[in-house]
Amino acid sequence: MRQSELFTKTQKKDPRDETSLNAKLLERGGFVYKNSAGIYSFLPLGWRVIQKLTQIIREEMNAIGGQELFMPALVEKRYLDASGRWDVEISFEVKGKKDRQPGFTLGWTHEEVLTEIVSKYVSSYEDLPFAAYQFQTKFRNEARSKSGLLRGREFIMKDLYSFHVSEGDLRRYYEKVAGAYHKIFQRCGVEAVYTEAAGGSFTISNTHEFQVLSPVGEDTIFVCDDCGYAVNQDISGSLKIKKGAVCAKCKKGKFREEKAIEVGNIFPLGTKYSKAFNLQFVNKDGKKEPVVMGSYGIGLGRLMGTIVEVYHDEKGIVWPEAAAPFKIHLLVLGEATPQLKKAGETVYNGLTAAGLEVLYDDRERVSPGQKLFDADLIGLPLRLVVSEKTLAADKIELKRRAEKESRLLKLEEFIKTIK
Ligand code: ATP
Ligand code: MG
Repeated sequence: MRQSELFTKTQKKDPRDETSLNAKLLERGGFVYKNSAGIYSFLPLGWRVIQKLTQIIREEMNAIGGQELFMPALVEKRYLDASGRWDVEISFEVKGKKDRQPGFTLGWTHEEVLTEIVSKYVSSYEDLPFAAYQFQTKFRNEARSKSGLLRGREFIMKDLYSFHVSEGDLRRYYEKVAGAYHKIFQRCGVEAVYTEAAGGSFTISNTHEFQVLSPVGEDTIFVCDDCGYAVNQDISGSLKIKKGAVCAKCKKGKFREEKAIEVGNIFPLGTKYSKAFNLQFVNKDGKKEPVVMGSYGIGLGRLMGTIVEVYHDEKGIVWPEAAAPFKIHLLVLGEATPQLKKAGETVYNGLTAAGLEVLYDDRERVSPGQKLFDADLIGLPLRLVVSEKTLAADKIELKRRAEKESRLLKLEEFIKTIK
C-alpha cells in the first residue's frame, strides 16, 4: 500500500476528548475514528489489525471444530423474554418509527437466538456435540467509560456456543476451548492469565476469564506467585482469598493483587437456555433430556486496545508481528530525485513480489523527520529506509521498531532472512 494513497493521516497531537492511551495512539495513527462515546470506526489501518486478529481466532476456532455462521443484530423481544433477559440495563431497545411497539433489542449476546435455531435441527444424541461461532457486532449501553477500545457501546465479538449430551462432555470441550484461547492470545502476543470468576445465575459453576495484567485494567485479580492460579476479586471473598494470603491451590505461593483487562470469558452454561427454548435430545435409552451448553466470547476491539496498552513506547505503538497491519514500513527519505524514486519503487516491487506486506511511504513533499515520526507512531515491526546514503552503499537500512540499532543490508539478503 502506498502511503501517498492512504486516505488517513497521522496527527501530531493527542485528541482532546480521549484519556485512554490506546485510544490516543490509535486515533493519532489513523487506525480508528471516534464517532461517539464508546463508538468507533475502524479505518483502513485499524481494520487490517482487526482482520489479522479475526483470522487468528478463526483458525483456532476451526481447529476445535467450530463452524462459522452469522446471526442477526436485531433480536426480537420474545427471545429475551424466554430467558428473562429482556430487562437488563445494558441493552438498547429498538423501536420502529411507525410501529412504536418495543419489539427488538440490538443483540448484546446470542445464546437465545442460536438455541432456538439449534432446536430445529437437534433431536437425537447422534446430533451432538457441535459448536458454532460468529464474528458480530454486539451492542451494550455501557456507562460512560474512559477506556477507549477496551469498553465500547458497540464492539465486535467472537462468540462461540457449544452443545452437548452431558456436563462431562461440556467439560471436556470447555477445556479444549480454554486451550484454543491460550493459543489465540499467545499468537497475538499477549499473556493472558486464566482466572476463575463468578458464574452468576446463568452458569453451572464458576466461569473463566482470560486476563491481561495492565495498570489500566478495570478488573482486580489475585494471582498466586508460585503456581499462577488466579481468581477474580468478584469471587475472592467467598473463597477467603486476599492479597498476601497463602494460595488455596498449591498451598505454597502467596496471592498478589493485580489490575487486569478481561480479553476473553468462557461460560459453562448448563441447561438454562436449552430449557427456555425446549432444546432437547433423545438419549441412548430413548429418554428426552435438555441439551447442555457452553458459551465463549472474545472482544476484538478490546483485544486490539489491550495490545496497544501492552506494546507501546513514548513515540507510538510497537505492534507485535501477528497483529500489525503491515509487516514492513518502507520509507524513502530525502529529496525525491529520479534516482531515489526509482530505488524506492524497486525495493517496494521486490518486497511485494516476495509476498511481503508493505506500507510504502512514497510521499514526496513530506520531510524525513515527519516520515520517521509517522513510522514510529504507526509502529510496524520492521522499518526499511532507502536514502542517498543507502543508495551509495547499494543497500537498504533495516531497523526493528522494538530496537534502537539499525543496519545496512542487501535487499535480497533481507528478503531471504525475513521469509
Ligand atoms: P466486562 O465485565 O468487561 O463488562 P463482560 O464480562 O460483561 O465484560 P462478556 O459478556 O464476558 O463481557 O463478553 C465477552 C468478551 O467480550 C469479554 O471478555 C470482552 O473481551 C468483550 N467485551 C465485553 N464487553 C465489551 C465492551 N463493552 N467493549 C469491548 N469488548 C467487550
Ligand atoms: Mg465477562
